[in-house]
Amino acid sequence: MSGFVGRGRADVVLEEELTSFDDHRAALLASVEPLEPLDMKVHDALGLVLAQDVTADEPLPGFANSAMDGYALQSRDVAAATVDEPVVLEVDGEVAAGDAPDRDVSPGRVLRIMTGAPVPPGADAVVPVERTSEVDGGRRVAVHVPAGVGDNVRPVGADVQPGTTVLRSGQRLGPADIALLASLGRALVTCVPAPRVVVLSTGSELVPLGRRPGPGKLRDSNSPMVSALVREAGAVPYPGGIVRDDPDSLAEALDTSTGHADLLVTTGGVSAGAHDHLESVLRRLGEAHPAKVAMKPGMPQLYGRIGDTPIVCLPGNPVSSYVSFELFVRPLIRRLQGRRDLDRPRVRAVLTEAVGAPPHKRHFVRVTLERVDGRWQATPSGHQGSHVLSSLARADGLAVIPEDVDEAAAGSTVTVHLLVQS
Ligand code: AMP
Ligand code: MG
Repeated sequence: MSGFVGRGRADVVLEEELTSFDDHRAALLASVEPLEPLDMKVHDALGLVLAQDVTADEPLPGFANSAMDGYALQSRDVAAATVDEPVVLEVDGEVAAGDAPDRDVSPGRVLRIMTGAPVPPGADAVVPVERTSEVDGGRRVAVHVPAGVGDNVRPVGADVQPGTTVLRSGQRLGPADIALLASLGRALVTCVPAPRVVVLSTGSELVPLGRRPGPGKLRDSNSPMVSALVREAGAVPYPGGIVRDDPDSLAEALDTSTGHADLLVTTGGVSAGAHDHLESVLRRLGEAHPAKVAMKPGMPQLYGRIGDTPIVCLPGNPVSSYVSFELFVRPLIRRLQGRRDLDRPRVRAVLTEAVGAPPHKRHFVRVTLERVDGRWQATPSGHQGSHVLSSLARADGLAVIPEDVDEAAAGSTVTVHLLVQS
């Protein structure tokens, strides 16, 4: 016997028709492969995902250099130095950053040295200029502190030893990674190029931003939203505009979008309404995998392929689109990028109020997060309707209420999928 699930008429479906969230996501992710890597200029690689391990073939620093402006000397010369009874040494000259060391430091003598300058042969320590005073107009220097071997010297390889793997395939390059690559002399780095994602809004009720909606019409907010999500995910959005709910217009828009895209993302037209044509159009052009997924929001889902181009069709309600993007499309983009971490970070948080949840569905609740007494507290950020953008804009994360929980009590602990950059 099939049980009915869902509370409102709109989401009454037979229980066994529902696909589990995990099954749907696994099938979707398995349907794509990472894109082909390319050699990129390191200057252009910010935000891209590495497709190679990077192993240092030289040490960093490449030569021992001074950590301070001061005097390079032999530490045993100043072993007895104190503030009141400094040791006075002969100044032989200066070595600045960029100078090649051309003089040794011999016993009883020092070289004035600048931060980053090579520590000259013979010297085993640098005393900071603040711990010294000039004597005889700088021809000699009084050192007021003792120094140990290696003080204020940055040894060869202290940062990176040759042979160390410093960056891993599958990680997204940040500014510090770019600096590391540049330090190691890597002008080119093998990365997955940013996926190109065509974004289409479907719906005859939609008007583009900049036009006043007529009666019954509304502004297309999904296209800017999904484009922003795509960009935030490290991919390049190509906004393809609005397509009317008409099979031929849809077929033409999809067909012409595939040539230059690594992925197509559409919103709207995947429910059971009379004007929801995407599934049949997709079937005509390629492959279609529709599913009623046991989740809220975002139950109707559809993905497929036109030629070699994968396509994900999200439900039209703005929050359903957003949440579906977050849970399905962001990981899919990360898979195209060859990333190993497919999800954004999650935290465990305590609910500050009870949250009702639809039976047999995974419920994603928009919440704000607050750190209280060393724990995260999650509070619903407002009305949870799938058309309500204001509570989405306020949310720090999506609290996950599992399928077998009908009401999560105040004080219970939930997992929160963070809606933050990572
Ligand atoms: P659909 O999934 O096509 O049935 O769309 C459900 C509802 O979501 C529509 O009735 C609209 O109110 C809203 N909607 C669909 N597409 C968009 C869009 N691009 N921008 C804003 N709202 C949309
Ligand atoms: Mg529609």
